[in-house]
Amino acid sequence: MVNYAGSGKYIYLNGEFVPEAEAKVHVLSGAVKYGALVFEGLVAYLDGEGRDVNVFRLPGHVARLFHSMRLMRFQHDFTPEGLHEIVLETLRRNDVRQDVHIRLAAFVEGHGQTGEKGPVGVSCSVTSRPARSLEAKAIRCAVSSWRRIDDTTLPPRIKSAANYANGRLGVMQAREDGYDEAIFLTQAGKVAEAASSCFFAVRDGQLITSEATHGILESITRDSLIQLLARDCARPVVEREIDRSELYLCEEAFLCGSSYEVTPIVDIDGFVLGDGQAGPLTRLAWLSYEAALRGGDGAHAHWLTPVHGAGLPRRAAGSG
Ligand code: PMP
Repeated sequence: MVNYAGSGKYIYLNGEFVPEAEAKVHVLSGAVKYGALVFEGLVAYLDGEGRDVNVFRLPGHVARLFHSMRLMRFQHDFTPEGLHEIVLETLRRNDVRQDVHIRLAAFVEGHGQTGEKGPVGVSCSVTSRPARSLEAKAIRCAVSSWRRIDDTTLPPRIKSAANYANGRLGVMQAREDGYDEAIFLTQAGKVAEAASSCFFAVRDGQLITSEATHGILESITRDSLIQLLARDCARPVVEREIDRSELYLCEEAFLCGSSYEVTPIVDIDGFVLGDGQAGPLTRLAWLSYEAALRGGDGAHAHWLTPVHGAGLPRRAAGSG
């Protein structure tokens, strides 16, 4: 059995902060039996001066969780403000003073049948995330033979745990075949996204990304990059249908997401992109995004919610 004891971390679960080993959900819950769980993956970064840790686009993530719960017909009495506070308090309780990934989840508890709307539980947990250079993040992708789930069956717009079964099929196959990640096509054969990130490419100097109605999660990083690059790049990003064959002709490509940040793609199905390294627009995207994440972009300071407010708490004497 996996042993979660001894991490020293606290997880928020239904009104309490409990040691990681005690954060449990019943095997008969709708969450476990049928994947009746929606979630958000957020990030918080240390600012450039090391003064505070800031959650990136907290209200946007919580709003998306509310959309997911609405589409799944979860019956709950959460408020956006209440969930903001749960996220911030989880970081404070864990004395976070470094870059972290945060998971906020809402799920059906009880003896959940497929149609149960509640009771709905909520949890929030945090894990540290080491910084990696753009070069170290470069990956090789395969176009998956598994197609992306579709709005008519399992809407990718819902950030539901169940949707990740589709991502898992593609990623496992890609790894079996010697690649790092899978790029999914829609049922109509157009480029959708990867299992846990959205797709951007550069064709003839033009940044392009799949439209929000083409089998993708409405990614907050994608939206941030579209806004940042409209300012920082000579030409704004174009949202349009992307053909599979364009994947092999583009000069640059990258994945983006809260976890993936900006992840350069240097090869797709054995076609090396550009000179096989992160290209100039990929680098620009990362620099603009990183500045926004770390508080170095005054125009987007409103995207950051400080965790500790009055600066990082002093460490308790003797705690290292
Ligand atoms: N697509 C999928 C399927 C994802 O799981 C994620 C990660 N949440 C993304 C895209 C990127 O979304 P975001 O930028 O909001 O993290």
